[in-house]
Parts: sequence; structure tokens; C-alpha cells
Amino acid sequence: MFARLIALQKKLKTSLQFEPCLEERFQNDHFEKSLPDVRAALWLQIILYALFGILDNWIVPETKFVIWTIRFIVVTFTLLVFFFTYSKAFQRYMQFVLSVNGIVAGCGIVAMIMFSKPTELGFQFYYAGLMLVIMYYYILLRLRYAYATITSIIIVLGYEVVAIGFQNLLTGPQLPVFINNNFFFISSLIIGNIAGLTLEIYMRKDFLQRVEIEKANEELKKLDTLKSDFISLVSHELKTPLSAIRTSAEFLESEDAIDADVEKEILNNVIVNVDRLTQLINDILDLSKIEAGRMEFHFEKVNVQETIKVAIGNIKYLALKDNIAISIEIPEYLPPVFADRNKLIIVLNNLISNGLKFTHNGGTIILSAKEEKDDIEIRVKDTGIGVDKDQISKIFDKFYQVDNSFRRKTGGIGLGLAISSGIIRAHGSEICVESEPGKGSIFYFRLKKFEKK
Ligand code: ADP
Repeated sequence: MFARLIALQKKLKTSLQFEPCLEERFQNDHFEKSLPDVRAALWLQIILYALFGILDNWIVPETKFVIWTIRFIVVTFTLLVFFFTYSKAFQRYMQFVLSVNGIVAGCGIVAMIMFSKPTELGFQFYYAGLMLVIMYYYILLRLRYAYATITSIIIVLGYEVVAIGFQNLLTGPQLPVFINNNFFFISSLIIGNIAGLTLEIYMRKDFLQRVEIEKANEELKKLDTLKSDFISLVSHELKTPLSAIRTSAEFLESEDAIDADVEKEILNNVIVNVDRLTQLINDILDLSKIEAGRMEFHFEKVNVQETIKVAIGNIKYLALKDNIAISIEIPEYLPPVFADRNKLIIVLNNLISNGLKFTHNGGTIILSAKEEKDDIEIRVKDTGIGVDKDQISKIFDKFYQVDNSFRRKTGGIGLGLAISSGIIRAHGSEICVESEPGKGSIFYFRLKKFEKK
């Protein structure tokens, strides 16, 4: 039974408290949403508190001035609270200030009970007002559950002090009335409690739902911009090589006698541009396969040194053109890895060609590999422009390019790293980056050593 109660309390606590960051957002949201209602509720309190003054004239004519004074004090206090709602500090102290306002309003009624003696039968005027205040705090003012409970308990305790301490209801003939009043107070507390609790849980659930909808909305917006980015990037990347091919073809068609060397150069240009288009289409296909989990992998025993050499061979001519030195640092004996050789070549090609693209003429690229316990670590290091710390996590996103003015110069649409990291993840690893703007970058990852079964 006790354990059950503790479990229930824990469950309740988790439903009434989010993790700190979300809790702060909830509090801010709750404040903004409830502020107009709080002001309206305060006005209502002021009007009712003043209007009930008409009653005093009939029910307690002899002490009406005392009671009017009490009303005046409470109404003035509530008015001050109302004006305070317009101050910046109100958000911070809202719960506390409203609780104090509740205690003042409640104690005002307790004081009225005290100054209006019970009838001979023990009937106490004004006691119903306390129940109104309790309900008002739990439901109308949307005070947070814990604050509403403390406020209500303090108000009821105030009543007990007056009824027992000043009016002797506990020992006199008016005991049944005292018990009756307390029954109503306790019922109001219970009903108010349940209502307040339900309201707060509902508000939190509603907030969570809104947060989720906002998140889904953001994702959709992101997808939408991604789609537009994709279309504009791809059409730009298709247009450039296509117009180069068209210009070359037009030139070949219009000229009758072309020098053999010039013709060769133009045809070479056509081949380069066709390769660029093929590469682009392959990248898009690869990425969609990776994302759909449809890329096939053929894991086998792979010689790292040989694979690195093949990868360099594919783009060596680009390095020569830009006067960038590529060197290999691999120990004489390096155990083979368990990988998909062709996919590993794609990754190395992407990393090396990025090194070339983002390194100024005359720079260097070093490819190295070494043993790390059960793994082999492969590194591609360049002396290029580097990447800012806050951009590092983003460069693996598809279509992301730190400075897309580079695209015009270098080609590529920001898919290389997305594809490469997808491939390395399929090998059970991650690509890591160390980079310093202006000095260069190191992209590295680990692969499992090949083990004989
Ligand atoms: P792309 O090379 O087609 O732009 P990638 O996905 O390969 O696409 O790279 C994404 C971005 O990451 C690049 O546009 C560039 O801004 C940054 N980047 C990648 N590699 C390097 C590098 N070695 N040095 C500096 N920046 C790099």
C-alpha cells in the first residue's frame, strides 16, 4: 500500500514536472497564456469583494464599518497586484504574488467571520466566501497546483484559528455548525485539489502536444527548403556541364577543318563534363539508396594500402593540376580490414577530393593509416581552409556547404560527406573531424581489422 502510494506520488511528480529546459518553456508559455485570464480574474475578485459590501448592511449592521474597512484593504491590495501584473518582475513572482493575494483575500473573509459573531445557533456569516476563494484559486486563477494547495490550506487554517481560538466553537453548543463548516471546507479542498491537478496535467499535456506539433512543423519546413535546395542545386549542377557539352558539340559541328589537337582537347572536355554529370547522378542515387537502407554492401578482406592507392590514382591528375602534393604514411605491415572495398574507395575519393577542393595551390594532403587495438584508423589530412567549430556537425548534412560560392569554382552539391558518413556508419563506425580554420582539417574513421574465422 505504502509502496503503491510512493509510486503514485512519483508518477504524479513526473506528470507535473518536465526536464529543466522544457519546464522553463512550459512556465513561460503558461505565463503568456494565463496573463489575460489572471487580470480578468483579479478584476472579478475586486468587483465581487466590493459588491458583497451591500450584504454587510443587512447581516452585520453593527460591525459593517469594520468589515467595509477589511474589504477596502483587500480590494486595495488586489488593485496593487493588478497593476503589478504589468511590471516585468511579475512573471518571476507571479505564483508567489497571487498566492499572497489569495491569502490576503482569504484572511479578509476570516476576519469578517471573526467580526461578525455567530448566531445563537452557531451560524457563521461569510464562511461560504472561503469556499469561493478556494475554488477561485484552483480553477479561475490557474495558480499552479502546489501554490493553490498551500494557499487554500493557509486560508482554512486561518479559519480554524478564529473558530477555535476566538469563537470557541469546538467546545460550545455550536460544535455541529463548526463540524458542518469544516466538512464543506474539506470538500472544497478535495474538489479544488482534483480540479487543480487535472487542470495542470491537462495544461502540460496540451503544451507537450503543441511542442510536438511545432517540431513536426519545423521538420516539414526543413524538408520543404531541402526540396527547393535540392532542385536549385541539382538544376544548377546539371546546367553547367550540359552547356559545356553543348558549346563543345556546336564548335565541332560548325568548324570544318579542326586541328587534331584542338579536337582532342574539346572531346576531352566533353568527357570530363559527362563524368561530372555521371558523378552527380551517382551521388544522388547513392544517397537515396543509403537513406532507404537499400545500399548493398559486400564485406570482405581489404588491403588498406592498395585501396588508398587506387583512390589517389582516381584523382591524381587534379592534384597535379593544382600543384597539391599527396603523400601516404602507412606502416610497412598493416593488417587488412573487414570492409566493402568499392564503397571504401568512394569514401576516400570524397575525402581526398574535398581536401583538393578546399586546399589552396601548393598545399599538401596526407593519407595515413595505423593500428588502434582491434581497428585500423584511416586519416585524410589537408592544409586547406579548415572548418569553423560550429559548422563541423552540419557539414555531414546533405546539401550543406559552408560557403556555397565555392560550388561555382569546385563543383559538388554537398552530398559527398553525407554519402561517406552513411557508408562508414554501415561499417559500424563514424567519420570524425578535427579542423582549424586557416590551418587545415583531418577527417578520420576506424574500420574493424579482418579476422580469420
Ligand atoms: P561538397 O564537397 O560537394 O560541397 P561535401 O558533403 O563533401 O560536399 O562537403 C560539405 C561541405 O563541407 C563542403 O562544401 C565544405 O564547406 C566542407 N568541407 C568538406 N571537406 C572539407 C575540407 N577538407 N576542408 C574544408 N571544408 C571542407
